[in-house]
Amino acid sequence: MRVNYIWFDLGLTLLTNNHCQSYKEALEAAGSKRELAEVERAYHLANKYFMRRRPGLLGQKNSGPAAFFDVLLDRLEVKDPQARALFFAEMKRKKDNICWHKFPFTDEVLYRLHERGIGTGLISNWDLGCRGILKDNGLLEQLDTVVISAEAGMEKPDKRIFQLALEKSGRKAEECLYVGDNYYDDVVGSAKVGMKALLINPPDRLGIEELDYPDVIESIKEVERYIA
Ligand SMILES: [Mg+2]
Repeated sequence: MRVNYIWFDLGLTLLTNNHCQSYKEALEAAGSKRELAEVERAYHLANKYFMRRRPGLLGQKNSGPAAFFDVLLDRLEVKDPQARALFFAEMKRKKDNICWHKFPFTDEVLYRLHERGIGTGLISNWDLGCRGILKDNGLLEQLDTVVISAEAGMEKPDKRIFQLALEKSGRKAEECLYVGDNYYDDVVGSAKVGMKALLINPPDRLGIEELDYPDVIESIKEVERYIA
């Protein structure tokens, strides 16, 4: 069956964030200056580590950041305990500046899909602040179905959140494609209901070397190629 509905993950799929710029500034304040590209690479690798080894922790407000920063600083080879402590203190000070915003191409991709008569939905593991973020980014009007873990009381990769999304949209899994950046939540989860999926990752399979999943794209800009 032809794909006529696409489900998206939110973080690092439809939206990006200013985390790396904040980390760069905090590193500089801690006396451990790094280039933005190095920080971005370390951020990606730390994210992939948590997706693989500590599933579910990334979304947790309290226990998440400290454990995440430890891995991030390890990837950046910041070893001095004082510099690490300064980084933590600086990030605590900056925590309210963190924001999520659309990729420069998000609107166009969604627009083009709708032009072709393809429906779009969201299945996101996020807290109750998700709708506010979607609204601020103009995404609530652009997505046909929205399913958020904190509202649903279940999260990816639980099969039931994908079933709920299918019920809400009135679609069958075979006519849908899922797109996300977390293999263990997005690809494994959507496969449980028989959905095909595309995995977002930078070139050369950086950070996902353990996977042999073939359908890897760099961003949602490539989605249209798969549904021609
Ligand atoms: Mg994501």
